[in-house]
Amino acid sequence: MKICDLEKCTGCGACMVSCPRKCITMGESDNAGTIRPIINEAECIKCGLCQKACHVLCNISNSKSLKCYAARSSDEIIRNNGASGGIASLMYKYMVGRNIFSMGTSFDSNGGVSYKEVSSEADIEWARDSKFVYSDMTNVFEAYKEKLGEGMECVFIGLPCQVAALKRFLELHKVNQNRILFVDIVCHGTPNFKHLREHLDYIERKRKKKVDRVYFRQPLSNYKFSCYSGGKRIWSRTMYGNDTYYRGFSLGVFFRENCYRCLYANTYRVSDITLGDYSGLGTVKKFAGDKSQMSLVLCNTERGIEWFDKLCKAGMVEYYLRPVEEAINAPGNQQLRCPSSKPIQKEMFDGVYLCTRDFEKSARYAMRKLFIKYYLFFPIEGSKYIIKRIVPNRLKRLIKSMGE
Ligand SMILES: Cc1cc2nc3c(=O)[nH]c(=O)nc-3n(C[C@H](O)[C@H](O)[C@H](O)COP(=O)(O)OP(=O)(O)OC[C@H]3O[C@@H](n4cnc5c(N)ncnc54)[C@H](O)[C@@H]3O)c2cc1C
Ligand code: SF4
Ligand code: SF4
Ligand code: SF4
Repeated sequence: MKICDLEKCTGCGACMVSCPRKCITMGESDNAGTIRPIINEAECIKCGLCQKACHVLCNISNSKSLKCYAARSSDEIIRNNGASGGIASLMYKYMVGRNIFSMGTSFDSNGGVSYKEVSSEADIEWARDSKFVYSDMTNVFEAYKEKLGEGMECVFIGLPCQVAALKRFLELHKVNQNRILFVDIVCHGTPNFKHLREHLDYIERKRKKKVDRVYFRQPLSNYKFSCYSGGKRIWSRTMYGNDTYYRGFSLGVFFRENCYRCLYANTYRVSDITLGDYSGLGTVKKFAGDKSQMSLVLCNTERGIEWFDKLCKAGMVEYYLRPVEEAINAPGNQQLRCPSSKPIQKEMFDGVYLCTRDFEKSARYAMRKLFIKYYLFFPIEGSKYIIKRIVPNRLKRLIKSMGE
């Protein structure tokens, strides 16, 4: 029994939730840890419901953006803690206390990311910030079905493929979608969380401390990938530096296969509102204001426009109306036109990983030329790197023991 092509499967889990025989589980389908459905063929009755639930096999409604804004939260604390302009966080703030159901992503103790209900202002702390890794949305489907069934107003904020998956699921189960607002986050790809876990293990071995909090893009951490242990920062690297995971993520060296074929990376948006980073601000029409921490907000439907107006009227957003083409055509916004292309390093990474099962070795090998350029540009870091590699371990231990 095949649901959709393996390389197109986004790992949403709608098929698993829809199966009447409960004979689908979501699990690692290959050595790289790609989460996909695994069918227990002995239990399957070939009813085809899993295929009907799969967004990859259906046409999901979409629309071209009607309005474009450069916007950021008026609240400095929200802005300084959000991934971009903190728009998603301020939407959560607006919903809490107004009896609007929503969910957000949170890191699990094993480095994986999954959805939880955002029901208080305190929950915004774990929901905000971009988690640059695959997120498990299997508990989202039934939660929204139930709340919409009860007549509650709902908002779903997630990656474009996740919005498509939820839309298809609700459609299949004939749930009225008049009371739900869909918000998608511009996305250029997600790695499997197995790779993030391997990288966190490496950091823990190096620092001899357990990582208990990870940030990818907090403005307060200078948009660095930062790991904390017991409240102390033990790792901090920029996207263009020498961190194997963060650099590889920015280049798309180890994304899931479906991301290079993303069905939702185009100008026809799958949701009512699209949020992203505003790159290219001022390129089509002069922009005189402060460009820092500015998010892109695309309102793609009348419902999206209405909702964004509500946030503006509540005084929660600083906003500027911009031409839609400015956002769509900006070189940094490729995901609004087409999916990420597969870089040459992906093949090298896969080749070494297949033989070694060693994330650090594979990523370092695939990106070695970039890292050499980095070390030439930052000679102090470069010298440290070379010394670390040429001094024998025994001598390193001896020097260390002399210092203790
Ligand atoms: C994997 C990934 C790739 C991205 N790639 C791009 C890009 O190429 N170009 C671009 O302009 N923007 C990209 N973004 C979006 C950008 O980083 C910001 O998340 C976005 O602008 C929203 O910022 P904010 O300040 O409003 O969000 P915040 O207020 O910080 O809230 C973050 C929101 O994102 C959700 N979220 C975080 N991580 C995940 C995840 N893994 N899965 C599902 N939901 C998640 C949270 O639940 C929350 O709703 C990406 C985000 C992710 C997660
Ligand atoms: S065909 Fe039906 S029983 Fe078989 S896996 Fe799909 S949903 Fe489950
Ligand atoms: S429903 Fe989701 S998890 Fe299942 S096959 Fe389709 S894309 Fe994959
Ligand atoms: S690139 Fe597309 S398929 Fe991949 S996680 Fe993002 S939205 Fe989903």
